[in-house]
Amino acid sequence: MSVRLILESKGREVATIDPSATLGTAVKTLAERRIGALVSVGEGGTVIGILSERDIVRRIAEDGASCLDEPVASAMTRNVKTAQEDMTIDEAMDVMTRNRFRHLPVTEGGRLVGIVSIGDVVKLRIETVEREAEDMRSYIHAG
Ligand code: AMP
Repeated sequence: MSVRLILESKGREVATIDPSATLGTAVKTLAERRIGALVSVGEGGTVIGILSERDIVRRIAEDGASCLDEPVASAMTRNVKTAQEDMTIDEAMDVMTRNRFRHLPVTEGGRLVGIVSIGDVVKLRIETVEREAEDMRSYIHAG
């Protein structure tokens, strides 16, 4: 099972933000869309950064609420780890677990084409296990 399977079920839309937008705007967008991270994209759809709610919480703890007027570029992570669509779900889970983050933008040919979160991966895992259990029950009853 690959990351492509998740994108085919949840869609390929990614919430993005301009690095020059303020952290205050990012907070509103995260809250409105009920998500935990925004991706910044540069020329030609390349990923140039990711801003998670954790980055904002850390900045507020360090600098106080006035940081909400600062640009996204000042708080985002620039060294972004990405997945390709043919990466296995297990590999994606491993990358997120080992690096202690919950979001993995997906790129093809260097362009952003989707994003998977640890929540998406766990959901698919649970569905798979439930389906296997159901198949096993049907097999036993048919016997
Ligand atoms: P998260 O657990 O995804 O909310 O993010 C925790 C920290 O990891 C934050 O500093 C994020 O900016 C950073 N982060 C999230 N996703 C990635 C990623 N795919 N590559 C690199 N850093 C990331």
